[in-house]
Amino acid sequence: DSKSGGDGKQVLSMATNAEFPPYEYVEGEDVVGIDVDIAQAIADKLGMELKVDNMNFDSIIPAITSGKDAIGAAGMTVTDERKKNVDFTDSYATGVQVVIVREDSKITDVKDLTTKGADNTIGVQLGTTGDIYCTSDIQDKGFGKVQQFNKGADAVQALVSGKIDCVVIDNQPAKEFVKANKGLKILDTEYVTEDYAIAVAKDNTELKDKINGALNELKAEGTIQKILDKYIKA
Ligand code: GLN
Repeated sequence: DSKSGGDGKQVLSMATNAEFPPYEYVEGEDVVGIDVDIAQAIADKLGMELKVDNMNFDSIIPAITSGKDAIGAAGMTVTDERKKNVDFTDSYATGVQVVIVREDSKITDVKDLTTKGADNTIGVQLGTTGDIYCTSDIQDKGFGKVQQFNKGADAVQALVSGKIDCVVIDNQPAKEFVKANKGLKILDTEYVTEDYAIAVAKDNTELKDKINGALNELKAEGTIQKILDKYIKA
């Protein structure tokens, strides 16, 4: 759209959920992270001014379909279901759903979650792929119960205090949450590998094409890798 920023540049407004380190999190008064740096690099290439709009994860797609924001960048996994409502750019990173447990947990393998009579309570972030998979593969099949949280960090606190049995979440935030809390570990079993991409409105092919052009250049220049390496320590 034609919203202009302070210096007359067109605004690129990005819906995100700054509860997903290292992709997006709050530092002081700013939202920072991989997605913010990538969106900033894209905005720079397009001569636009980036504006970050922080909200709950499950509000991001509605913010795009309603036109409130032009893009959604939130470590968002490309899924067929989401493609019914938004378009996705080319992928710029991948994620893996992992299981966080307490160090002394009886859960030692992802298969323990889909065992008859297991009856675990699994914490997830509302509306994420972890939520969608656990609800359909575990809760709907009677193996356990899914508890939804607005923030991944809140699910992790419930795990620390023994209110739930595990958390299913993307691998990079999982690493950050385990680092920030004592007595937790990540099971090496992988749930599923996913592509992260930027969401745009279905009728905004022009913006999608421009972003893909910028992403291609940023990949070729090594900028995407540089940004990933800045936030993800081996
Ligand atoms: N990759 C997950 C998804 O798209 C989680 C993203 C997030 O919580 N920011 O559902």
